[in-house]
Amino acid sequence: MSFHLIDIKDANELQRAAILDITRQFELTTKKIHDIKQHFINEMHKGLEKHGNSLAMIPSYVPGTPTGKEIGTFLALDLGGTNLRVCQITFLGGSEIKIKQQKYKVLESLKTGEARALFDFIAESIDRFLTDLGDEHNDGKLDLGFTFSFPVEQTAINKGTLLHWTKGFAATGAVGKDVVELLQDSLNRKNVPVRVAALVNDTVGTLLAYTYIIPNALMGVILGTGTNGAYVEKVKAIKKLGNFHFNSEDMIVNMEWGGFDNERKVLPITLFDNKLDRESINPRAQIFEKLISGMYLGEIARNVIIHLIDSDLLFKEIHFQFSNITYQRINQQWGFETAYLSRIEADLTPNLDNTNSILKNDLNVYESSLTDRQIIKRICQLIGIRAARLAATGLAAVITHRKAVESGCSIGIDGTLFEFYPHFEQRIRGTFDELIGSNADKIALGLARDGSGVGAAIAAMMAAKNRE
Ligand code: ADP
Ligand code: MG
Repeated sequence: MSFHLIDIKDANELQRAAILDITRQFELTTKKIHDIKQHFINEMHKGLEKHGNSLAMIPSYVPGTPTGKEIGTFLALDLGGTNLRVCQITFLGGSEIKIKQQKYKVLESLKTGEARALFDFIAESIDRFLTDLGDEHNDGKLDLGFTFSFPVEQTAINKGTLLHWTKGFAATGAVGKDVVELLQDSLNRKNVPVRVAALVNDTVGTLLAYTYIIPNALMGVILGTGTNGAYVEKVKAIKKLGNFHFNSEDMIVNMEWGGFDNERKVLPITLFDNKLDRESINPRAQIFEKLISGMYLGEIARNVIIHLIDSDLLFKEIHFQFSNITYQRINQQWGFETAYLSRIEADLTPNLDNTNSILKNDLNVYESSLTDRQIIKRICQLIGIRAARLAATGLAAVITHRKAVESGCSIGIDGTLFEFYPHFEQRIRGTFDELIGSNADKIALGLARDGSGVGAAIAAMMAAKNRE
């Protein structure tokens, strides 16, 4: 499969050379993705054998997946990256679900302030949600499933230590602590009648929610602010659990795949990725995530764009003396949003008018040539294609490891990239063709929108059932 790139007809020789060079840096050949896939499988084995691997392979203590017949009402909480979601979820059996939910924006000051303030804010949001809901279910404590989308080392379904923050969070006093305890303390202090019954990673939640609808799905994946995947593993394959007794043959494993190849053994990292990484709050960490997810793609594009501006290859023909051009926005870290990449990739107008409107209205670049806009579109395509191909490579590795190539399998995917980024799914599929061949058709990819909330409630239900 070839991935279509925009033709830049009127570029001059220097521009051509630069575009060719950048294209080469971002391209992943079929051989390269095969190598990455193999390394991914090796790293999965290592992560299952010992703690502390960069591909962490964290046991979730969630025994397999639901049948779709379960019933009951539970609360769920989802701290995703951009928003905090509080939901009340009623399972009606027959794969049917009723959801009431509310979103609360997590302010930057809370992400990087004291952890206690962050958890107090969460408890207050739950309290507000319950008040708005009225007290339909206020007999005794409500069980809550907590989706916490950061790397946590779990030791039970309701116990887990935060390893480190990702995705722009850096609240102090949380790393090394049990996040269930932090939340329960805040709830108790504020007299909110809620028991935190289960802690699940959002990928685990996505998988659980998906399996309530599509039983026996193999994987849950996030392609949003960050990226990660969880899958159903045989307990006996999780060697680092030792001879730990577990009530099921299966356990869901949270891979924390954002940290895959932090050692940079196979991933081809460009200058532009390195700049992003160095300027990020977690340098040398989450390298795979930084090449794939929504938080980062815009910034990589910005790095390429400013490199071309600095090389005098972009916005060159503009007469600055008389123009309205200002680089203020484009100079700013995170000033180029991943949503712009989506809109630019979707821009099929011959003059790239929509791209022009982003340049003008969002970036205050009031003048550009068609060639400038074509170059910018090419940059977005290269970054978008690379992201989808790398995500596909991770998926193919898990499918191969679980020997599901021949039999086929279902994968539930949540996140803005998968839902809205143009061609993302098609590019994943194209990459499957290269990695898996004719069996690629047996892999079903489904949108599992906001599944993590429902999944957390399912985990709370499973935990409450075990307590009885
Ligand atoms: P999460 O639930 O992990 O917080 P979401 O799935 O809501 O993440 O995605 C939010 C991310 O998606 C942000 O990083 C944002 O930059 C990016 N984003 C927002 N709109 C778009 C879009 N139209 N196309 C691609 N990415 C987008
Ligand atoms: Mg989400």
